[in-house]
Amino acid sequence: MPEDCIFCQIVAGDIPSKTVYEDDSVFAFLDANPLAPGHTLVIPKSHHETLADLPEDTASDVFSVLHRLTPVVEDAVDADASTVAFNNGEASGQEVPHVHGHIIPRFDDDGGHPIHAIAGSRPDLSDSELDDIADDIRDSR
Ligand code: 5GP
Ligand code: ZN
Repeated sequence: MPEDCIFCQIVAGDIPSKTVYEDDSVFAFLDANPLAPGHTLVIPKSHHETLADLPEDTASDVFSVLHRLTPVVEDAVDADASTVAFNNGEASGQEVPHVHGHIIPRFDDDGGHPIHAIAGSRPDLSDSELDDIADDIRDSR
């Protein structure tokens, strides 16, 4: 594990956390600076920076825990919904370079926004440009 990774140190128990879930490959704990009560981070125990760096079985494990934990977190804080998201890479705002999914409980009157609010200026793409992008993605999967 990288010595200076905060989340690796949390997994190792060297930094305390409010742990809410743990199995062989996944760890989940409350965010220290929550955006809402119950704000939870779900991480692989092994150190990987972004989603693309995750081996497929570990990615499945992380998503499976997100899937199971999200309704439990919502119920625990009596939330109306949740935003589940990854800041994936530095340019997206990822500050801790150990991949982590955020479960952020949402409330009818929380004054927040949908994830569409994260975008800067929106591109104005023609139909053929959309086709080109779709082709590129489909062809290089
Ligand atoms: P990012 O911006 O990288 O997607 O989110 C990192 C998250 O980790 C932030 O929401 C921040 O509050 C949380 N965080 C950073 N350091 C610690 C820590 O030492 N303990 C806990 N529980 N959360 C942390
Ligand atoms: Zn790490």
